[in-house]
Amino acid sequence: MNIQTKVEQTIDKYKICNKKEKVLVALSGGKDSTIVGYLLHKLGYNIEAFHINLGLGPYSTRCEKAVKELCEDLGIKLYLYDFTKKQGSSMCYVRSAVQSKKSLKNCAICGVIKKWIINKEARRLKADKIATGHHLDDEAQTFYLNILKGAPELSANSGPITRNISDKKFIPRIKPLFYIFEKDIRAFAKKNNLPVVYESCPCALDSYRIQIRKIFEKFSDKEKLNIIKNFDKLQSKIKKSDKKINYCEICGEPARKLICKKCELVKI
Ligand code: AMP
Ligand code: ZN
Repeated sequence: MNIQTKVEQTIDKYKICNKKEKVLVALSGGKDSTIVGYLLHKLGYNIEAFHINLGLGPYSTRCEKAVKELCEDLGIKLYLYDFTKKQGSSMCYVRSAVQSKKSLKNCAICGVIKKWIINKEARRLKADKIATGHHLDDEAQTFYLNILKGAPELSANSGPITRNISDKKFIPRIKPLFYIFEKDIRAFAKKNNLPVVYESCPCALDSYRIQIRKIFEKFSDKEKLNIIKNFDKLQSKIKKSDKKINYCEICGEPARKLICKKCELVKI
């Protein structure tokens, strides 16, 4: 089955979005989110795009160029967020400031800050949903990682559409590529000659995720798919949380604790 049909099936089965909603596609410039933008546009969804230039030198310049090219080619409205201008310093600087106080890996810090920005901006832009490029390999890895941490329940909120969080300040995130292998995405992007930055982020060094990816190289597609099947089975058994979401005492964004994850990192 081709990628487009699988994406259509995922959208229908999990009701992740409809054509009346405004979907903001978080485009990184990489192959995964580019394909999400390309396919949702092709399928006639009402999409706009959002890109954060993280200020990571020539790599970020190339990502922004790729995103602009895609949006110009397809006529998608694009919102650019200049991290350095808005936050006063580049992601690299913010990350090293956090790391001087806390021993956290690069991608973990960047991931929390990006999520915070994307949710806040999606709300400002009145989007109904945020679409990201997470694919089957990413999701299987995350589930596996949570098992290694001894906390599979951390995956409870995951899936083709975020569960368990219903709050007016939280924009639901959708993952149209949830059931698609990374290798198929790569092949599709190449075949369709999409503007994509294939190099990995220069800051993505020594993350827990990179270690898990090495383990996954040894897994067959069937094994990866089985991990996702385990996830599907477990998820249906987890009760929807009725825990109230707080608003961060510092920034006002949705938070599980009194202070959100982003402020917990950045305030110190
Ligand atoms: P990552 O956390 O880098 O694995 O990215 C996960 C998803 O977040 C991607 O598939 C994109 O949808 C989104 N994303 C990552 N980086 C950016 C960025 N610089 N600007 C906008 N969206 C991004
Ligand atoms: Zn906060």
